Amino acid sequence: MMKKDYYEVLGVSKNASPEEIKKAYRKLAIKYHPDKNLDNKKEAEEKFKEAAEAYEVLSNSEKRQRYDKFGHSGIKGSSSGSGMNMEDIFDNFGDIFADAFGEGFSSFGFGKSSRHRTIKGSDLRIRVKLSLEEIANGIEKKVKVKRLKVSKGIKFKNCSSCNGTGQIIRITNTILGRMQTTSQCGICNGTGKIIGNIPYGANKHGLIKEEELVNIKIPAGLTEGIQLKVSEKGNEAPFGGISGDLIVLIEEIPHPKLKREGCNLHYDLYISFPDAILGALKEVPTINGKARIKIDSGTQSGKTLRLKNKGLPNIEGYGYGSLFIHVNVWTPKKINEEQRKFFEKIRKNENFLPHPGNSEKSFFDHVREMFS
Ligand SMILES: [Zn+2]
Repeated sequence: MMKKDYYEVLGVSKNASPEEIKKAYRKLAIKYHPDKNLDNKKEAEEKFKEAAEAYEVLSNSEKRQRYDKFGHSGIKGSSSGSGMNMEDIFDNFGDIFADAFGEGFSSFGFGKSSRHRTIKGSDLRIRVKLSLEEIANGIEKKVKVKRLKVSKGIKFKNCSSCNGTGQIIRITNTILGRMQTTSQCGICNGTGKIIGNIPYGANKHGLIKEEELVNIKIPAGLTEGIQLKVSEKGNEAPFGGISGDLIVLIEEIPHPKLKREGCNLHYDLYISFPDAILGALKEVPTINGKARIKIDSGTQSGKTLRLKNKGLPNIEGYGYGSLFIHVNVWTPKKINEEQRKFFEKIRKNENFLPHPGNSEKSFFDHVREMFS
């Protein structure tokens, strides 16, 4: 059988935007959702799968490009195609349904070994700002989250449509005899219960917004933009379903002195002219305090010192990065008469004339060394 064109399946043009594609898929997914098509479940399921497959390809810019170039043969071997079952589809596209059904919950845990439908609450998203110290050490944070929760005082009653069984049994007379089909009750979403009374302030699903302190364990070494998932701390689901998840987006507060680059840190150290000539002990900030470093006599401006393991922990769990200290010699802008005379006197002195040799590495050498 010829495969249908994916754009045709979704009813969008070849240059449809990702948003248009998502919208079109959502519409079809709701239209052909098997639970909404109990009379012609099989056919709806086919259409539903077809749309999911088209969406899987067209929503992925790389796959879409290949499809545009080579057609169906261009995406062979991908996970799309007849291999997709309903469970996969719901797993992959849970977000879309969450959006589509909005408000308090998305339904469906369709499939999943049991025939019972699980209602899942929608996910919540929050941003958490972390200092570099917190990122370096990992931290447990208590964060205020406004979750939809099942309202207190809510009363349920048995669904009259299915007599509390959650299932509708239908008997039809066919030429082969009486046939019995069982399907999930659409009124109570298969739970057998409906809300008897909605307490004041709750929405039509009996959910009410409540502030809660949620404990979030943040592992060491995260980078900005990483998302953590706290299971079941999103919105609650009505009828004793599973709560959605809390998605935590990590934001890094820039450190006032240290610059981060992966798990390495950089610090610009300014030393005085005499310190560069005579040598000195200097204090530099580290992530958890201070370190003392030795500046050798005759240190050139631009020299880089490296403190091993004073960087951030590697997120994959092995080792620490380094702290690189970039030495800059501070040239005074204002000097007094006596100092001016002193420097005039040594201006022509042999020792003060630059004669860089092999031991003086250029800026580029330093950079190369750092990344090797
Ligand atoms: Zn029912």
